[in-house]
Amino acid sequence: MPPTPGPQDGPAVALDDVHKRYGRIQAVDGVSLTVPRGEFFGLLGPNGAGKTTLVEIMEGQRQADSGTVSVLGHSPWPRNPALLPQIGVQTQSSAFFVRLTAREHLRTMAALYRTDREAAERALASVGLTEQGDIRVDDLSGGQRQRLAIASALVHRPELIFLDEPTAALDPQARRALWQVLRDLKGEGRTIIYTTHHLDEAQALCDRVAILVDGRIAALDSPGRLIAQGSPTTRLVVPADRLTLEAARAIQGVDHATLDGDTIVLETMDAGHVLAAVDAIAGLQGVQTRTASLEDVYLELTGAAEPKP
Ligand code: ATP
Repeated sequence: MPPTPGPQDGPAVALDDVHKRYGRIQAVDGVSLTVPRGEFFGLLGPNGAGKTTLVEIMEGQRQADSGTVSVLGHSPWPRNPALLPQIGVQTQSSAFFVRLTAREHLRTMAALYRTDREAAERALASVGLTEQGDIRVDDLSGGQRQRLAIASALVHRPELIFLDEPTAALDPQARRALWQVLRDLKGEGRTIIYTTHHLDEAQALCDRVAILVDGRIAALDSPGRLIAQGSPTTRLVVPADRLTLEAARAIQGVDHATLDGDTIVLETMDAGHVLAAVDAIAGLQGVQTRTASLEDVYLELTGAAEPKP
C-alpha cells in the first residue's frame, strides 16, 4: 500500500486568500500562493507593499484576519512549537547576545536548538565569519552583524528559511559571497523565501518571484518568464558627444530618446535596424545595448504605485 501523504509531502508554504488590515490600512489584500519545497522564492514590492506583514504571517508572528495559511503542512498560528525548529528566520532587527563573541552567540543558538557545537562553526564558516568568530557581537561591523543574523537563521539547519533583505548592508564582495551561500542552501534542497529590493539579485537567484503592490500579487512567475512577457523594448546607450537628441529621434524605429547624464538613451523595438543606423551616424564604439530586465518589469508594474510611508 502506498504511504499516506503527510505534512512532509505537501508544499513548503500554501496561502489562500490571506487578508491583514491595520486600522485603515489593508496591508495584505487577498494573497494566494504556493511555494513548493526546494524553491527559492522572492517577494518583491515597493516600501509598504505588505511583504513583511505577509512573511510574518507565514512565520507565525502575526495572525491573518482571514484566509488559510499552511507552512510545512502546519498552521503557523497560534505559534506552533513543532514548527519552530523547522524554520529559520533572519529579520532586519534580529536580536543578538551582544556581550558574547560571534562564535559564542552561535554556540548559544545551537544549544537552544539542541544542535551540536560543530553546527555553530559550520554556520560561521558559511557566511565567511570564521576569522571574526572571537569578536564581540557589539564590535562587529553592520555588514558582519547582518551575516551573523543569517548564520543564526541557519545554525539548526532548518528546512524552510525566511530572509528579509539579507544583503541590504553588505559590500559587493560579501554580497556575491552570500549569493553562493544561498545557492548552496538551495542545492541542499532547502526552501528559501526572501524579500529584497535588489532586483538584479532576485533575477540571479530566484526560481520564482511574486511582485506585491498594495497588498496584492501583481505578478508571479519565474524572472525569465516575467521578462519575456514584459515589454520587448531594447535600450541603446550612446555617448552624448557622438549623437544629438534630434539625430537620435530622427532614426526610424526609435520610440523614445532621452538625455541621461553624458549618454543618450534610445528605446526601440527594432534594435537591429536602430543599431545599424547609429553605426552609420556615430560608429558603435562605446555603444551599449540593454535588453529588458526584471527591474523593467518591476518598474512597469509598480511605477504607478506611490511608496507608502
Ligand atoms: P518595506 O519594503 O518598507 O519593508 P513592506 O512591503 O514590508 O515594506 P509592510 O511592513 O508589510 O510593508 O507594511 C504594509 C503596510 O502596513 C504599510 O502601510 C505599513 O505602514 C503598515 N503597517 C505595517 N505594520 C503595521 C503595524 N504594526 N501597525 C500599523 N500599520 C502597520
